[in-house]
Amino acid sequence: MRVEKLIEIAHKMVGKYHLSDPDFSAGTVGAALLTTHGNIYTGINIEVACGIGFCAEHSAIAEMIKNRETQIEMIVAMNEKGIIPPCGRCRELLFQVDNKNIKTKIYLSKEKYMTLDELLPMRWTPST
Ligand SMILES: [Zn+2]
Repeated sequence: MRVEKLIEIAHKMVGKYHLSDPDFSAGTVGAALLTTHGNIYTGINIEVACGIGFCAEHSAIAEMIKNRETQIEMIVAMNEKGIIPPCGRCRELLFQVDNKNIKTKIYLSKEKYMTLDELLPMRWTPST
């Protein structure tokens, strides 16, 4: 699969989703990932009070795990302005759900990607 298709799918996730409180939002960021098995999973972010929202990558990863997969070939997240890189928490999540995701291609633009290894060189490890 070409990254353009993944970008198109992520872009379709971005939009307005109804939440009862107008100060809260969902879908300002959309994400799409392609697994090593060739399946695509999507997610949206949720922004609510008390820091209990989450990133679009999180919900895409949860969707993937629900389908019994953990290895990600490539991932893209975007807002209305374009592609955005994953935050540090999402980088750690990508690694911790499957250490093989260190080779995941993370798109920073349509033409450029970096591997998770490049974006997360000093990753967390449990103390021994
Ligand atoms: Zn994040």
